[in-house]
Amino acid sequence: MDELIVTVGITGSRITRSQTPAIPITPEEIARSGIEAWRAGASVLHVHVRDPRTELGTQDVELFREVVDRLRAETDAVLCLTTSGIPGRSFSTEERLAPLALRPDMASFDAGSINTPAGVFLNEPDFLEALADEARRQGVKLELECFEPGMVATCLRYLEDGVLDRPPHFQFVLGTAFGMPADVKSLLHLSEMLPADASWSAIGIGRTQLPMATLAILMGGHARVGLEDNIYYRRGELATGNAQLVERVVRLAGELGRPIASSADARRLLSLS
Ligand code: ZN
Repeated sequence: MDELIVTVGITGSRITRSQTPAIPITPEEIARSGIEAWRAGASVLHVHVRDPRTELGTQDVELFREVVDRLRAETDAVLCLTTSGIPGRSFSTEERLAPLALRPDMASFDAGSINTPAGVFLNEPDFLEALADEARRQGVKLELECFEPGMVATCLRYLEDGVLDRPPHFQFVLGTAFGMPADVKSLLHLSEMLPADASWSAIGIGRTQLPMATLAILMGGHARVGLEDNIYYRRGELATGNAQLVERVVRLAGELGRPIASSADARRLLSLS
């Protein structure tokens, strides 16, 4: 099997200090947490930024710039910037695409719409096609986030039509409130839909983070962990930070005989230049 790419979702857009003191909010905190996770073995850093006044996600490009500059100065990690805004809230296409101007290695592409407790996470065809265009123009590889099989089918169609570039990298997001369950059947079904040149990674939300990461290690996929998706280390015990969650998956992979990808390995595996 290929080396395991560990991605860390550093902060996401919604978890606040009242839920866990470990959640990074300011650009400096987000960068520091990303650097710690990279040192622990994460080769891909998935970045959101927060408005320090509200603690919630924002697409403010200057905040992204500050985080990206700090991460580039101290790591060789693959940087994947979000285009999601806050799922369930309204952001314009321009706001959502703004971070691509920083020409990160990767950006997220949520391949369809889905209900969330806060409303619809809206990703209309016009938005997806504008994102695909802008990513190609800026030389940014898209991480194809799929919450259910229809989103995989959407990506396959866009790949066939040349809207998306090859080889594709999929990120399965399982165990969300109103999405596909995080279980073996889901992961098998989604991974078996993919073309031969695709790579994939799995996210399990909340308590499903650890089992989904373990399954991905065993199945030859890649794994995302981090506070964006799960704030607990185990039942009733908050994680101390992103590095702690990364360290555990690195240990597990070691026990299961799966080497960990360096940032250079991740670039090769993801066909990044
Ligand atoms: Zn995200």
